[in-house]
Amino acid sequence: MLALGKLLELTLVGREPAAKIQLTAEGARLRWLAEGALEVTPPAGQDSGLDLLLSAGIHGNETAPIELVDRLLHGIARGELKPRARILFLLGNPEAMRKGERYIEQDINRLFNGRHEQSSGFEALRACELERLSTTFFNQAPGDTPRERLHYDLHTAIRGSKIEQFALYPWREGCQHSRRELARLKAAGVAAVLLQSKASITFSSFTYAQLEAEAFTLELGKARAFGQNDGVNLQALEARLQCLIENREPALDEDLDGLQLFSVAREIIKHSDSFQLHLQPDIENFTELPVGFVLAEDIAGMRWVVEEKGARIIFPNPKVKNGLRAGILVVPSPELP
Ligand code: ZN
Repeated sequence: MLALGKLLELTLVGREPAAKIQLTAEGARLRWLAEGALEVTPPAGQDSGLDLLLSAGIHGNETAPIELVDRLLHGIARGELKPRARILFLLGNPEAMRKGERYIEQDINRLFNGRHEQSSGFEALRACELERLSTTFFNQAPGDTPRERLHYDLHTAIRGSKIEQFALYPWREGCQHSRRELARLKAAGVAAVLLQSKASITFSSFTYAQLEAEAFTLELGKARAFGQNDGVNLQALEARLQCLIENREPALDEDLDGLQLFSVAREIIKHSDSFQLHLQPDIENFTELPVGFVLAEDIAGMRWVVEEKGARIIFPNPKVKNGLRAGILVVPSPELP
């Protein structure tokens, strides 16, 4: 295997490779760009026109997706997986990955779309670098013909979920969510998609809004330590990614039956240190909450009461910093037009 295929190993020991560029036997090029960043270019004349950004480890302890990305890269570096797409592999937070933590000082996935400029520390610098690497990747694509831009930002959640694998589809002004991309997610084993309706500060929101990629945050199950991910089934996603990489994706069935669509009813914002979330610490994502339920209380008698029928909670986290989102109330969304 080409040494650059060992991006994860290099990253976990914090080493820079001596040779930055290597070629596979058939002429695909691997180029190390920065810590945790590697670009793959297909052999000359074999480019399908897809620019595929695969990121994992934006939260350092989300090992199942990191291992998935690692397997794909190993396949390419061994010459077993034959790339026909340009690919950028990004491991998001190397320092947190080495420590097995979600983050060191602050959550990188709340630092995109310029938010890093209002902050400091190495996670803010890393968010800036990830923006730069992804911008360069998409903007340096060769040729004059329009290319397809796709970004999957792969995560596992802190908690269990009533719906094991789901996606967040970002929002940008005047842009419709794509039925084709939803069909692709369904084929990749994703059971539900949250259609967002406002701008956000996550990595996929950045690539969607600023770089006009089709971009998704994929939540793939519960976070566990390296080597303990048997419970997370990524086979459908892995098979779909292999197809995309090798340009042999089966035709998509655009019937979205069976794919649950949700929209955001409200974001629960923590305003002060008095914030109290009235949920069990181990509550699962997509747990339904009854109308009238007092979800949270905060300073000055502020109360968050569930008013929406069929509301469910995702990403409840009372430990976020003041001013940040402590959970999202979602509701079933009407069918796409
Ligand atoms: Zn995450």
